[in-house]
Formats: sequence, structure tokens, C-alpha cells
Amino acid sequence: MPQPIRTAIVGAAGRMGRQLIQATLEHPGSQLVAAVARPGNAAIGMDAGALAGVEACGVEIVPDLEAALSAADVDAVIDFTLPEALSGNLGVCRKAGVPMVIGTTGLSAEQKAELDGAAAELPIVFAANYSAGITLSLKLLDMAARALGDDFDVEVIEAHHRHKIDAPSGTALRMGEVLAGALGRDLSDCAVFGREGRTGERDRKTIGFETIRGGDVVGEHTVMFLGLGERMEITHRASSRMTFARGAVRAANWLVAQSAGLYDMEDVLGLR
Ligand code: NAD
Repeated sequence: MPQPIRTAIVGAAGRMGRQLIQATLEHPGSQLVAAVARPGNAAIGMDAGALAGVEACGVEIVPDLEAALSAADVDAVIDFTLPEALSGNLGVCRKAGVPMVIGTTGLSAEQKAELDGAAAELPIVFAANYSAGITLSLKLLDMAARALGDDFDVEVIEAHHRHKIDAPSGTALRMGEVLAGALGRDLSDCAVFGREGRTGERDRKTIGFETIRGGDVVGEHTVMFLGLGERMEITHRASSRMTFARGAVRAANWLVAQSAGLYDMEDVLGLR
């Protein structure tokens, strides 16, 4: 029987953090060894399992990733926090030589460059969406955009819960990158974010993004390919955050056998 993957979770008190605790505890190949929340968070000192609403597991929520990595042998860190926390967490994991699975979205170009830099030294999985369905959707979008080409207009529509702080979602932007790449365009030149007022006719080479925010929507994405006389849609609906959490735990278990580099869920699922 192989040794379980000793996993630390950063952002443990967040919506995703609590699901990640549960998913790690449930995964037969994983062992939760550390759970880190932001200093001052009310969850500090609590048992991680109890915080996640499952059985107590003997791992206490602590405020410092560096101290947590010194106190326990950790094979992989899973980080779903905020963009502004990324740099510090990358630095700590780089110093300790611990591979990372990163799910935080809304990263700036500088933060993505920092991720690339760290991946020269560490194995890192970064995905805007850890669900298998979205990972496969990206493949289907690439195929559809190549087949339909410039004859079809492309629009990306997404909906998320009222607490989400970035827009469009990281998944919608990733979809846009895949679509633009398949159509031979650069997303930064052709993206249109929402429309208002006297916009004029649609520029045929644009990719449009529309965002809906409200209630408790876990995550929905639709890409429309709109042609003359027909329309094709690819839709994905997530109904539980556990789908992302299970995907991230699977990524952590895959990652520990990899060498330094930046990977995504297509690598984890063997779709490349
Ligand atoms: P959330 O606000 O509920 O949780 C984020 C948590 O991170 C908070 O508890 C915050 O206190 C904590 N945090 C911030 N800085 C920290 C630090 N330096 N150390 C430790 N903890 C820190 O948000 P959420 O809904 O859990 O989402 C978290 C991130 O994950 C967002 O960027 C979201 O878009 C992303 N997300 C990604 C996927 C995916 O599949 N890739 C899925 C869902 C959410």
C-alpha cells in the first residue's frame, strides 16, 4: 500500500477551503497534515474536520504556512485563497521545496509571471477550474472553434454566486483564451466585456463575455457559437463545490510524481 500524500490546505476557512478539507479527508490516498487560515480568522485553533462539518481529524487550523511546513512533512500544498496571497505562499513553498496545486482566480499578468517563475523550480498545477467536465469542455471548445471558424460569432456567458469578487470568472477567461487560440486571435485584442448603449454592429472578430452574479450559483458557463440559421451551445453547470475540491485533491496526488513545471487539469486527466 503506497504512503498517503501528506497534504496542507491554505485558505482552509474559505468556502473552497472547507470543501478541500472534506475532500482530502475522504480521499483514500491523501492525508490532511496541515490547514492554514489567514491570521485573525475566527477558525484558528479549531479542528479542521469540525470546521468542514465532518468528524474531528486532529489537525488544528493555524495562521502561518511557513511554520506549518516546518512542523509537518508535507508532500503538497493546495492553495485556494486570494490573488494578493499568492506571492507569499509561492515564496514559502519555493523555499521549502513543496509542490503546489493552485486554484485562486483573478490573477494579474504579474502574478501569472510569478507562477511561471516558481514553476521553474517546483511542480505546480494551476487551473481556473478543477472539474473534469470543464476540463473536457475546453477540449470541445477548441474543436468547435476550429471547425466553425470565423463564420460563427462567439459569446461566453457565466453565472456565479453573489460573493464572487472577480469577473469574468477565471474559467470564462480560460475558455476565451482557448477560443481565441483556436481562431488565431489574441484574446487581449478581441475580448469585449459586456455591452451598453449605442455599440454599433458586432465586430465579427470579437469574443464577447457576459457576467451574471447572484444567489448561491456554484458556477455555470455557456459558450454560444452563433451562425446564420443555426446556433450551437456548450454548457457546463457545477452544482457543488465538492467537484472542484475533489479535482484539486486528485491533482495533488498526481503532482507529487512530477518534475518541476507548470501543469493544468488536462495534464492531470491525461488529455494532452
Ligand atoms: P473565500 O473568500 O470563501 O475563501 C478564501 C479564503 O482565503 C478566505 O477564508 C481568506 O481569509 C483566505 N485567505 C486569504 N489570504 C490568505 C492567506 N495569506 N493565508 C491563508 N488564508 C488566506 O473564497 P472561495 O470561494 O473559497 O474561493 C477562493 C478562490 O478559489 C477564489 O479565487 C475563487 O475564484 C477560486 N475558485 C477556484 C476554483 C477552481 O476550480 N479553480 C473553484 C472555486 C473557486
